[in-house]
Amino acid sequence: MIDTDLYCVKILVRGIVQGVGFRPFVYQEAVKNSLTGWVRNTSSGVEIEICGTRKCVEQFLHTLQNNPPPLARLDHIKVTETPPNGATEFLILESTDSESQFLPVSPDISICEDCLRELSDPNDRRYRYPFINCTNCGPRFTIIKGIPYDRPNTTMASFDLCPACQEEYTNPLDRRFHAQPIACPECGPYLWLEVKGQRVAEREDALQKARQLLKGGAIVAIKGLGGFHLACDASNEKAVRALRNRKKRSDKPFAVMVFDLSRVEKIAEINEEEKAILLSRQNPIVLLRKKKDARVVPDVSPDVDTIGVMLPYTPLHYLLLEPGEGFPEVLVMTSGNLSEEPIAYEDEEGLTRLQNIADAFLLHNRPIHMRVDDSVVAVSAGGFLPIRRARGYAPDTISLPFHFPPILAAGAELKNTFCLTRERYAFLSHHIGDMENLETLNSFVEGIEHYQNVFKTVPEVLACDLHPDYMATRYAEARSERENLPLIRIQHHHAHLASCLVEHQWDTDDPVIGLIFDGTGLGEDRAIWGGEILVGGYSGYHRRFHLEYIPLPGGDASIRKPARTALAHLWHAGIPWEEHLPPCSALCGDELTLLHSQLKHRINAPWTSSMGRLFDAVSSCIGLRHEASYEAQAAIMLETICNLQETAAYSVILQDDEIKLRTLWQEILNDWLAGTPPSTISAKFHNWVATVALYASETIRSETGINTVACSGGVWQNRVLVQKAKTLLEQHGFRVFFHKIVPPNDGGLSLGQAAIAGWKATKRNG
Ligand code: ZN
Ligand code: ZN
Ligand code: FE
Repeated sequence: MIDTDLYCVKILVRGIVQGVGFRPFVYQEAVKNSLTGWVRNTSSGVEIEICGTRKCVEQFLHTLQNNPPPLARLDHIKVTETPPNGATEFLILESTDSESQFLPVSPDISICEDCLRELSDPNDRRYRYPFINCTNCGPRFTIIKGIPYDRPNTTMASFDLCPACQEEYTNPLDRRFHAQPIACPECGPYLWLEVKGQRVAEREDALQKARQLLKGGAIVAIKGLGGFHLACDASNEKAVRALRNRKKRSDKPFAVMVFDLSRVEKIAEINEEEKAILLSRQNPIVLLRKKKDARVVPDVSPDVDTIGVMLPYTPLHYLLLEPGEGFPEVLVMTSGNLSEEPIAYEDEEGLTRLQNIADAFLLHNRPIHMRVDDSVVAVSAGGFLPIRRARGYAPDTISLPFHFPPILAAGAELKNTFCLTRERYAFLSHHIGDMENLETLNSFVEGIEHYQNVFKTVPEVLACDLHPDYMATRYAEARSERENLPLIRIQHHHAHLASCLVEHQWDTDDPVIGLIFDGTGLGEDRAIWGGEILVGGYSGYHRRFHLEYIPLPGGDASIRKPARTALAHLWHAGIPWEEHLPPCSALCGDELTLLHSQLKHRINAPWTSSMGRLFDAVSSCIGLRHEASYEAQAAIMLETICNLQETAAYSVILQDDEIKLRTLWQEILNDWLAGTPPSTISAKFHNWVATVALYASETIRSETGINTVACSGGVWQNRVLVQKAKTLLEQHGFRVFFHKIVPPNDGGLSLGQAAIAGWKATKRNG
């Protein structure tokens, strides 16, 4: 039966709709419903025009909305009726590009089920091909040089398609239709192995030789998706130790890669939520509770009860970790860098920088345009807890609760990210790193240029931290001067608070209670803040409570020496340094004398209210850790030993705007002298922090009626604290926000800076 009533609509779709198999999907659905018309990519999304019976058009729209392709993210669909265009078939048209529009770019996606199947099918032409991919998986952000996202704008531009790939690429019904990184053994990138500057093997042979080397205890640098990894057998004590020594990374845990879930279960405890994250297409490193198992020597993550685990996410990883006679089940896969430097990603650079670490290099000729590290996440009582947001998540857009002018927020010094905004989108960069060297500064500057280019946004307002010595601050200052742009300086902990509010789509300036427990950040009074209980929103804040100030000898340098921080705390509390106390015996006599005079005369000892340093100090005071080889090591050890059964807490004293510490220290030392186990002291201290959070929030609620609490700052990576504070606050009727999209640490700071700057720049009045 022919329905003569032709119904035609024009559909505009925005969101992640390019490079994810969206047009073939539209084509197939249109043909299935006997519709005529066309589909095309534009620089703002996808445009579709369809004609057919009303029923068929509606069926098409229903599928579009409810069953889009797996990687697509539809942010907005606009449907308008349009006159018939006389088309007699359905076509995929050429892309159009208009200057001012932008399009979200997909992060890199781990290998899909279909590609995995082909990878292991001897009859497939991509059998065991390490660079197999399709529209549903593979590299994206790391290979994009510009937009629109077409092959000439990627690092695949130099590989000419063979006839077979060309056929797949141009066939709308093929899974690889317009898959920009499409490749095969005939025409695509390949592997080779280098030892001492010599190319010793290629392709499958290179892979097998690399496996032999790993099996024999060697350290192999492997060029992957977003940079180099350094790999070795996690069960080989000597290899792991050698890697630590050569990387100059004394204690910081290494991540591991395991072939599949059943093998993860042998080395770590894993719950359903963690399982789902491990298996997600973002494929991050997940922090799990480790089991004692010979497949992972203790030196992989010394002194802590967690281990960072990831599953293979590229075809190369699957081939590399393939279970085999005597081949290690668990590989250390740590970032290919020297401690503190950014991950290496260019061949020359990788070879030079890693030559003293790696025994061999497994390389390939697909260039990486953007260096992106592995993401790190954990599961806490608050749910998904991002710790490092990079591969798989960046550069996904984050929705803003307001429409902002274009802003660039420069972020912090450690764990730097920057943030660009456009309309109601924030583009929070992938993890850049600690801005302590030229390499990281370069990747920060290059990153900003790349994001501006890809997302077609030019900042009109700049935001930075109050700290004048942050490299990111200096960049913002220089740029503000050069381009004559307004620069808004934002207090560190206010930015943390705003970052948490943005995430929860807080769309007013109504104040909330900010429990900002952090390492360090410069305060308005030039002291180092970090134990801050704020009342505020985007436009401003009031510092209602803070940890009592103590002098911090050596300032930031004390991060490396928790024993010094502990002694500063004791000194300030008027507790004598008796030599049987662990931090006293940890330092030599001269150092103690020097420290004492430093404190007494306040030489290079700025005031601090840092919560992170308080955790460090308690850790040292009960003998856990006196020197830290990475940030928060002492605090992590304190969390690790906490006795979860213990419910008692040390006494909380809030006086005026101060959280007093003297009684806390007296009680801790009394316990210590009475022989109370460190696990109990740790628990009573964690309970003290949670109780501080509760009492302070209750006081503020009684003063203001505010009932919403936002928890931000690096200390909230402590999952024991999250559990305790969440329970306590919720029991008392508070609504509690934790970070779920961006890290609570300084990796999320630039998002908050952007929101505050956006608010101030538009001078909203609540
Ligand atoms: Zn695929
Ligand atoms: Zn090919
Ligand atoms: Fe911070």
